[in-house]
Amino acid sequence: MSLYQSPIHHLHQRRMQGEITTQEIVESCIQRIEDTEDQINSFLTLTLDQALEQAKKIDQKILNKDDIHPLAGMPIAIKDVFSTKGIATTCGSKYLKDYVPPFESTVSEKLNTLGYSLLGKTNMDEFAMGSSTENSAFKVTKNPYNLDHVPGGSSGGSAAAVASGQALAAMGTDTGGSVRQPAAFTGIVGLKPTYGRVSRWGLVAYASSFDQAGPMTQDVTDTAILLEAVSGFDNRDATSLQVDVPNYSEYLNQPITGLKIGIIKDLDLSACDEEVKTIYFQNLDVLKSNGAEITEIEIPNIKDAIAAYYIIAPCEASSNLGRYDGVRYGLRSKEIDSLKALYEGSREAGFGKEVKLRILLGTFALSAGYYDAYYIKAQKLQNLLRSQFHKAFKTVDAIALPATPTAAFKIGEMTNDPLQMYLNDVFTISANLAGIPGISIPGGFTRDQLPVGFQLLAGHLNEGKIIQIAYNLESSLNLIKPSLAI
Ligand code: GLN
Repeated sequence: MSLYQSPIHHLHQRRMQGEITTQEIVESCIQRIEDTEDQINSFLTLTLDQALEQAKKIDQKILNKDDIHPLAGMPIAIKDVFSTKGIATTCGSKYLKDYVPPFESTVSEKLNTLGYSLLGKTNMDEFAMGSSTENSAFKVTKNPYNLDHVPGGSSGGSAAAVASGQALAAMGTDTGGSVRQPAAFTGIVGLKPTYGRVSRWGLVAYASSFDQAGPMTQDVTDTAILLEAVSGFDNRDATSLQVDVPNYSEYLNQPITGLKIGIIKDLDLSACDEEVKTIYFQNLDVLKSNGAEITEIEIPNIKDAIAAYYIIAPCEASSNLGRYDGVRYGLRSKEIDSLKALYEGSREAGFGKEVKLRILLGTFALSAGYYDAYYIKAQKLQNLLRSQFHKAFKTVDAIALPATPTAAFKIGEMTNDPLQMYLNDVFTISANLAGIPGISIPGGFTRDQLPVGFQLLAGHLNEGKIIQIAYNLESSLNLIKPSLAI
């Protein structure tokens, strides 16, 4: 087995026992990138020389017997939505094609402090709007299990990089499912933390009241390590929470006997493929036989989550994207005979179709006369959902639901049907509206050898609970992954 096929925690142990070096670990991923990147297209920018230099530094520290973090020197990729000082940050948009931030996001700064080896910035749907990474202005990322299929989105580059072994782990962001859905489509683990658990400082904003960064890893243990590393209060993000960060690794290996897992009564599974449903119920049976109690709960408004999200998110996007005016940064139109022409020309040339669609929808929903009918109504629904989840978590420790209605679909299959594309988020979006944490872990594989995710949600700041249950399921399933297409 090559080094790139092992999770970080295994490799960390092996290097501390002197069996392997950090340099060898990084070289293994670099070789994998060289062998596969022209077919998978996970990256927008590569920083391989830097990564290798960093690995050598960490090996020196190990030789000196200095204390190092498990993530030190480990080859990790981050989504191109995180600002990285001196390294291009495009957010998948032509608008930011030549943008090089003068500052570092808190997430990447924390990882830098721990000494990680950044491999590069990964492809994504433009401004994180999408579910397939096909909205990237630059390239289409392929699913490593089947190159004709999408890796999901918007953190599709991060997902494909981890699933293919180009990176040992990656960071993504999840506004409506963009960590969990691509994780599900590529057979990896993805966790969206509680809103405010991880600082948003330095993230290119999409829908600020939902955006949250999360780890994407080969297994649950690595997710616990990475989540702990990036969590915590940050005085540069007023919405980050001033609460201690638990040792998430302590939740691994804990029995789940007596834990209550809720399944949502009336959850509409009709959009689900048969195979996805079967895997979901099989996974629930495993948890039950491991001692969890499965009980029905009610979230009556869950069916309205998609509608509410696709009003609120475009409203916030239309306002956030107002900053791209051709003046401050990014693309600038040559049409500068009037200020209006500069704005219009820059935005027309810089934004892709889906981004323009969202700006139009959001601006419309916020305009006088429609504000109450759309935006306020959507917010009322959001409040209802929040209180329904709050009530449910008084009686259960976690809620289980499928991560997505289907396995990864084909490239091009949904590009002409935005509504169909939006419906992909049917099971992930309510966690963002409620601000609660959610995880997707591999639940099984379809007959066509495509991964299917299993999702768990927990109450506010209860990431530990879903890590505990997910670890339990992961260990029991002990899935043998089918071979990759490449
Ligand atoms: N697919 C959803 C959207 O397009 C979610 C994207 C995300 O989580 N960034 O808005």
